[in-house]
Amino acid sequence: MAFNVQEFKKEYTKKFEELFAYGYDEGSTTERFIALGDLVRGLYTEEWKSTVEDYIADQSKQVYYFSMEFLPGRMLKSNLLNLGILDCVREGMQELGLDFDEVARGEVDPALGNGGLGRLASCFMDSIASTGLAGHGNGIRYRYGLFQQKFVNGYQIELPENWLRNRNVWEVRKENKAVIVRFGGQVNLAADEDGKMTVRYENTRNILAVPYDTAQVGYKNGVINNLRLWSAEIPYGEEANFSTVEERDDVMRITEVLYPDDSNYEGRLLRVKQEYFFSSAGIQSIIRYFKKLKLDWNQFPEKTAIHINDTHPTLAIPELMRILLDEEGLGWDQAWEITKKTISYTNHTILQEAMERWPEGMIAELLPRIYQIIAEINRRHIEKKIPIYGNELAYRTAIIDQGQIKMANLAIIGSHSVNGVAQLHTDILMAETLHDFFVMYPQKFNNKTNGITQRRWVQIANEALTDLLDDTIGAEWKKNPLEIRLLKAFREDEEVLEALETVKLKNKQRFADYVLKTMGIEIDPTAIFDVQIKRMHAYKRQLLNVMHILDRYLQLKDDPSLDFPKRVFIFGAKAAPSYYYAKEIIKLINAIADLINNDSTIGDKIKIVFVENYGVSLAELIIPAADISEQISLAGKEASGTSNMKLMSNGAITMATLDGANVEIRDNVGDENIFVFGLKSEEVQSYYRNGNYHAYDIYEKNPRVKRVLNMLVDGSIPGIEQEGRDIFDSLVKFNDEYFLLKDFDSYIAAQYSADRIYADRGKWNRMALMNIANSGPFSSDYTIRRYADEIWKIKPKS
Ligand SMILES: *Cc1c(COP(=O)(O)O)cnc(C)c1O
Repeated sequence: MAFNVQEFKKEYTKKFEELFAYGYDEGSTTERFIALGDLVRGLYTEEWKSTVEDYIADQSKQVYYFSMEFLPGRMLKSNLLNLGILDCVREGMQELGLDFDEVARGEVDPALGNGGLGRLASCFMDSIASTGLAGHGNGIRYRYGLFQQKFVNGYQIELPENWLRNRNVWEVRKENKAVIVRFGGQVNLAADEDGKMTVRYENTRNILAVPYDTAQVGYKNGVINNLRLWSAEIPYGEEANFSTVEERDDVMRITEVLYPDDSNYEGRLLRVKQEYFFSSAGIQSIIRYFKKLKLDWNQFPEKTAIHINDTHPTLAIPELMRILLDEEGLGWDQAWEITKKTISYTNHTILQEAMERWPEGMIAELLPRIYQIIAEINRRHIEKKIPIYGNELAYRTAIIDQGQIKMANLAIIGSHSVNGVAQLHTDILMAETLHDFFVMYPQKFNNKTNGITQRRWVQIANEALTDLLDDTIGAEWKKNPLEIRLLKAFREDEEVLEALETVKLKNKQRFADYVLKTMGIEIDPTAIFDVQIKRMHAYKRQLLNVMHILDRYLQLKDDPSLDFPKRVFIFGAKAAPSYYYAKEIIKLINAIADLINNDSTIGDKIKIVFVENYGVSLAELIIPAADISEQISLAGKEASGTSNMKLMSNGAITMATLDGANVEIRDNVGDENIFVFGLKSEEVQSYYRNGNYHAYDIYEKNPRVKRVLNMLVDGSIPGIEQEGRDIFDSLVKFNDEYFLLKDFDSYIAAQYSADRIYADRGKWNRMALMNIANSGPFSSDYTIRRYADEIWKIKPKS
């Protein structure tokens, strides 16, 4: 985008005065941001419009990424970066006497997702536009995002996240593109004059779905796609058939708030309403677009790919069937072929507690026609599979089972592609979790290892590293992330290694300043920054990290002269408000932070920093400052992980179990550039199968484990009577579901070897360099290319 500093200054001054009727020098940070955001949006609207017009003119195939969550982070810098005017705007702001970074922090970080799944969707949106693909997001415009987390007396408190409080400069409300979504009522099948079946709905509750569109700007390529988020409103005119105030309030509640559960299934009515609401609205809007092309219905899959991110949007399948059958008058077989060819599905978990299933009665009442269609899909599936696979397998793969509708089964049967998100995860799906389906549809299964966009996670989050890379290997890596491998040539170059250490130190200082200012804790930037940032969940094993801290604390208490390098343990994690055990672990970490941070015999040998309200913006601050990346989930439980990729791209070294994408990180960096420990996935499976794991025996026989665990219940950590007991019991009495005790020794050993290597600065810096240099394959640009080639069959705009 052609634009110079002088023009920018003029435009910005004008824009600010136009909006606020006084000068920018009098404005608040929020106002300064709003003026800047508004100006930037104005700069790309022309290209946004022409991108859509080109897509229609070329009749190019469109992909729609349906996701219940998007977690984009602040958009100002990424839009400026992708437009190619970040430096120009930064300079212009400076010349106007404004602090650009401060103004950028005036943007509210929209937390419309829980964690990895939502963040993946946003990395994908960036990569789809940046690789020149015609692809759009479809989701929900939650009025309130993921709760704001505060700690009071060490306990998590949840506050509402009113992210729209200052107006959202990026979105455009498109009232003329609104659609009606119907709930409840009765279905009547009747023959019309020609004897054709017609479907009539009566007494439905009609809800207006209004889209809010946000541009998804591609990296310096002129492509601007669309993220469409739907808001529920009361319709006007005859569609407004609500009889009571409560019913009207009900409507508004549909898009009121994001469910704060991550990797956990919520069987509640409001949740399924949300799922149908945005699936139906999305499908209707896709169909309206397709009809503009005036093509035959059989060409629908040639022009449209619809991807469902986990099972949350699975009702898109029966909804597409409904429209093709009832509104467009297609026969079942034709509609079914079209649907399957159009839809593809990503599985994100093997955790049973995260598998969505809905009570049959609930769906029948809430979505009577959709229920009929699901029941018919199920009937035909069983009927067709019995002769080939026999009764047992046919019924085991049924969609409706014992009064429950299993969403994963519907997603697999109604799509042409099922992918896992890391090779190990996909292997487990095929061999275990979804093995029955793998037998039936081997060709549907494929792997697409997750990725991240280095534009946000390196270029924006880590400017110092970006400059060093540019100076060392040139700027080609920004267009082709694999080119970052050129850095390997400098692995023995002392100057580069030292420069890398200087970059890291600078980022650690930046984070230390934040910690001092917000928490009043002083941390030494030369200490090892040991980082675990992710949702709080038992399978992710933050508790194993805690056990290591307590063990280290005990060692130092025994012998204060031990020369461990200083370590700062950094945590960021929200727990689902209803996840009691996860909240107890939060309290425990805060309690040991209080204990150890204030123990003068420990000094700064150990510091613990648990930041409040972890989210994308904090991730951007913490990740560049990390030395160690804690990726310590029990092998076989984490589908992929993506913070592991962000951290390696910033030169942190992974402390890893062989789980999710850690396996692929190890394959890329080599054993000498990662710390691997713990049980393998097959070993875990074998323990589960044979029931021969006995945590109590380890507790009894391993004195270090015993001493650490006893701390939870002997009063040595103040303020955790209940939590300490519950956590102790989960490990010792209830047999330690996630094998922390079993992995303890090898984890401690791996941590000791990290200590030793950190003391050898040259060696550590080389490992960091090798991690950065091998991070290219984890760019979501490549992940998206594989989705495009192998699943969606779409090509970049030439
Ligand atoms: C990347 C990211 C995650 C995912 O972290 P995992 O360690 O892969 O679970 C969660 N939350 C935020 C804010 C992220 O940026």
